[in-house]
Amino acid sequence: MGNEFLYRQPVVIRFGWGKIAELGDVLKEQGADRCLVVCDRFLRDRVEALRQEIPEIAAIFSEVEENPQLSGVEGAVKLIRENKVNAVVGMGGGSTMDTAKFAAAIALGDGEAIGYFRGERPFPAERLPMIAVPTTAGTGSEVTQVSVISCGKEKKTINNPVFMPRAALIDPALTETVPPRTTMNTGLDAMAHALEGYWSKNHQPVSDLMAVEAVRLVLNNLETAYKDGHDRTARENMALAALLGGLSFALPKTAGSHACSYPLSEDYHLPHGEACAFTLDSFVRINADDRLEELCRRAGLSGTAELGERIRALKQLGGLRTRLSDLGDVDMDKLCHDCAVHPLMNNNPVKMDEAALRQMFEGLR
Ligand code: NAD
Repeated sequence: MGNEFLYRQPVVIRFGWGKIAELGDVLKEQGADRCLVVCDRFLRDRVEALRQEIPEIAAIFSEVEENPQLSGVEGAVKLIRENKVNAVVGMGGGSTMDTAKFAAAIALGDGEAIGYFRGERPFPAERLPMIAVPTTAGTGSEVTQVSVISCGKEKKTINNPVFMPRAALIDPALTETVPPRTTMNTGLDAMAHALEGYWSKNHQPVSDLMAVEAVRLVLNNLETAYKDGHDRTARENMALAALLGGLSFALPKTAGSHACSYPLSEDYHLPHGEACAFTLDSFVRINADDRLEELCRRAGLSGTAELGERIRALKQLGGLRTRLSDLGDVDMDKLCHDCAVHPLMNNNPVKMDEAALRQMFEGLR
């Protein structure tokens, strides 16, 4: 894109070990004296404990599921209205933050959530401030205007400024309890964001810089975080990698691997990070060019071949699925068609039609 670009990043970011202790200050900064905390069942006890110290927490909604459903948004909206809160905190992984973003965006309106989901009505002009507190190191949802929500089997990525958090409170200590497999899935999601933001047709210099650093951090820390979840340096560096990964795709958007992740999640039930990682090393090979070689060198690698190797090694270490035979009965025609028509495929620097995708997936048999 040369020297013409627009860079914008409106989220106030606080980062550091133990920073969750500053949640009360962040709420005050946002002018909030009554907030709803959205989380999942796993984090409920932790949020209850926080409530003892932070009187601004007026209510807790803990019914978020993985691949969050619109019904979760509706449940959170109901509590927002019943408790008359003036801010929403999303404390959890991407599923939780995306639910909280959607609820904060629509709660002051009078329409049903489904109308906004289907794009049948504009989002309300007024919305509640949303504070993102990630507890996994992967999605970068804390700095994006994206909310990924499902209604039944239909999983939608909605990109709209109304979903931009006001503040992100990133405390790597919260990720200490993430189990190894989820650590690997989410860590490779961060890697995918950085690489896809970097090779997206819409890439730009500011995002590029963050992408290089995110890739370097993942390569140097994910294995340790996977093997020892209590390694503080590795957890800190992975939380930073996830943040930088989020910033590196927030404007350029993602590309081929993310386009393929949707059918892989919807039809073969791979978690988001694992679904992105499934084709990531294939796209490293397909998208290899001088720019990608340069990223590899700046991230401390000899070149794109080594990058592909390192991604494959991480997937193997984490026990992630890597071959089509790991997915059960695969409908190749549908898989290639659904990947080809996904809008994010248009961002891939190399054109990938159904035939090219078939060739790629045949290589993964
Ligand atoms: P997740 O939020 O679904 O959480 C995965 C699992 O990890 C859950 O069982 C959860 O309970 C558990 N977990 C979370 N924090 C934990 C902790 N600290 N300790 C122990 N367990 C913990 O997973 P995710 O990968 O963070 O998010 C995936 C979702 O985010 C997908 O729906 C994906 O599409 C979406 N996503 C959104 C964006 C965005 O910009 N909005 C970007 C990428 C992905």
